[in-house]
Amino acid sequence: WWSNVEMGPPDVILGITEAYRKDTSPKKVNLGVGAYRDDEGKPYILPSVRKAEDIIHKKALNHEYAPIGGEAAYCDAVAKLAFGEDSPVFKNKSNCTVQTLSGTGALRLGLEFITKHYAKTKEIWMPAPTWGNHPQICNTLNLPHKKYRYFDPKTNGFDLQGALEDISKIPEGSIILLHACAHNPTGVDPKQNEWMQLSQVIKDRKLFPFFDMAYQGFATGDVDNDAFAIRHFVKDGHQVMLAQSFAKNMGLYGERAGALTFLCGDSDSAAKVMSQVKIMIRTMYSNPPLHGARLVLEILANPELKKQCFAHADIESFIWKELAVNPYFIPTFDSSSGTVPDFDPDLTLGSELSLFSIPVQVLEINSDMRNINVTKVLADVKHMADRIISMRKGLRSGIEGAGNPHQWQHITDQIGMFCFTGLKPDQVEKLTKDFHIYLTKDGRISVAGISSKNVDYVAEAIHKVTS
Ligand code: PMP
Repeated sequence: WWSNVEMGPPDVILGITEAYRKDTSPKKVNLGVGAYRDDEGKPYILPSVRKAEDIIHKKALNHEYAPIGGEAAYCDAVAKLAFGEDSPVFKNKSNCTVQTLSGTGALRLGLEFITKHYAKTKEIWMPAPTWGNHPQICNTLNLPHKKYRYFDPKTNGFDLQGALEDISKIPEGSIILLHACAHNPTGVDPKQNEWMQLSQVIKDRKLFPFFDMAYQGFATGDVDNDAFAIRHFVKDGHQVMLAQSFAKNMGLYGERAGALTFLCGDSDSAAKVMSQVKIMIRTMYSNPPLHGARLVLEILANPELKKQCFAHADIESFIWKELAVNPYFIPTFDSSSGTVPDFDPDLTLGSELSLFSIPVQVLEINSDMRNINVTKVLADVKHMADRIISMRKGLRSGIEGAGNPHQWQHITDQIGMFCFTGLKPDQVEKLTKDFHIYLTKDGRISVAGISSKNVDYVAEAIHKVTS
């Protein structure tokens, strides 16, 4: 029956992982994979997710079907995380939000909805470059897609002028795809004032903005900061569409927890859109999976867990200041046991405790009593974002320190999980062949694949293939 079927091309990223697995060199490094790794190169389970798992386990919930569009409480919580608790869209009930099969499912559902119900120019304009699955989904749906300038290879930064020029020529009523933050594959995001200019030109051209937000919190470590673009567009009067994913910011890759939101003119129109989305879901997969959404909801609805997962970056310095003036937190340090007996005999490196109701973890115990170098806010997302930022710094200084003649500032200017190094295909090939370092041909590296153990090696290899 299937002799007519031709072999399809392998997935680019998965092909790299395959080749990496086969490599027997102890030096091998996988910079292709788009999943966070800890400093040991291992998958990371967020402590807030662990706690949510425990809580859910104790609830002994059943396995009945979820509603077609997912649980209302989940949809409400995730939309609030994106648009902001007090966004006017919630007062007007003008949003239609459904749970989807992670970010990809949201994109697929949203784009399919467009093929069926979008009344204006059915043409999707994407940044050049963009995540490879964006054009692929459009191809599957026979949706025409085109590109607007985004990345400037000369500066390895955002091409504001090019983007504004191209967008101002897009036919009225077309759909424009925007990465809300931590652009994949370039790691280059517009600055806030640049987003404002983009919003204006998109409004002037009467375009319909479809945001893909797969990395909220990953860019700056702060979920509100990372939602700036979306919230600004809403403030500017755009009725955006939004695909959300909790794969990266909660490390729930395989749980497939995501959401699709349509902002509509009013609650009546939102209800009509909802009725049609439900028909689409019902005929595709009937209803979404439970477990990932339960974890996300547990974290978002539980103030302690939410803080632990997403606490703001500035809380950290607040705690440090408070600690420095509060004598109760000046412990005597027993270096032989690694404990702080005056404070709490059980307090050791890695202990978790609550300070001013903010969860913190003991990362460093300093024997200098005046200098309370002992704790750090345990914000899981910030922890991941910070490790990536420190690896960027290490990589850049390693390459520059080796006396490399080129400019490497873009490594630290770019944000999120990926870095568009500017390496040419032949240099990429050399990295893989001579140094066992695996990455995509376009020179994109997943900074999450770099650790304190391999950063010097990767820097030296990049230096060698580029000088
Ligand atoms: N959009 C972008 C830009 C991405 O990079 C990803 C993940 N690679 C996704 C969406 C969707 O990922 P998931 O389906 O795992 O949520």
